[in-house]
Amino acid sequence: QRDLPLPAAPRVLTVSNQKGGVGKTTTTVNLAAALARSGARVLVIDLDPQGNASTALGVEHRADTPSVYDVIVGEAEMDDVVQKSPEFEHLYCVPATIHLAGAEIELVSLVAREQRLRTALDTYLQEVDEPVHYVFIDCPPSLGLLTINAFVAAREVLIPIQCEYYALEGLSQLLNSIKLIEKHLNPDLRVSTILMTMYDGRTNLAQQVVADVREHFPDLVLSTLIPRSVRISEAPSFGQSVISYDQSSAGSLSYLEAAAEIAQRGAQQ
Ligand code: ADP
Ligand code: MG
Repeated sequence: QRDLPLPAAPRVLTVSNQKGGVGKTTTTVNLAAALARSGARVLVIDLDPQGNASTALGVEHRADTPSVYDVIVGEAEMDDVVQKSPEFEHLYCVPATIHLAGAEIELVSLVAREQRLRTALDTYLQEVDEPVHYVFIDCPPSLGLLTINAFVAAREVLIPIQCEYYALEGLSQLLNSIKLIEKHLNPDLRVSTILMTMYDGRTNLAQQVVADVREHFPDLVLSTLIPRSVRISEAPSFGQSVISYDQSSAGSLSYLEAAAEIAQRGAQQ
């Protein structure tokens, strides 16, 4: 697990799906932890006012903690708010606090409102002492200005899809938004990865959903399926990824495998 290829330039992935509860945060945190464990330097940007990624990574995010909000409104540099994860060396987090809830509205009247995160992140990546290999941005469940900021800051979109009946519903809206961003704000943006989450192989429905999504997006869906697993859902309450909470569990192994696929696919491009 220490021989994954490292990208030559930072890969910036935004983890997006306007549906809530599909596994965005879980995927962000566990892929980041898996890649950090394999030796990559990884930054997680928590862009959801709920701050779930910050919680799961065990970093401080009280109301008065310097956070991504201060960066977006231009009151801090990203370097000032980045925290080290207590879990893995080389795993870092820009936390979200409750203040971020107001940002969606405050952003409307700011100049370059769609580029705020991009500008801050580009500066950080250029000036940071040691190169960062992966940046994962955990998005809120909406297609508002925060998510647009993530789309503008990223090169790749990773879409987690829950293996359930409504899986494909709402996806065309998401893909349309990404197309609009690509056309008007970020020509480099593309959907690079789809990850099927909360898979329960005992049901025909889950198998059928995976088959459907694979048929629609043959090149994008990872071979690895993330199983529905109690260990995965328990880990955040210990401020840990499942990778360290229960290393050898099926959930942990699945995220390690998905991370390896992402690293290898990146190396081929
Ligand atoms: P989102 O960020 O898209 O809202 P989360 O990652 O917070 O979704 O996941 C929603 C809920 O489902 C959380 O309670 C999480 O712990 C749980 N969950 C996510 N992935 C799994 C999984 N593979 N197995 C079991 N529970 C999961
Ligand atoms: Mg979330």
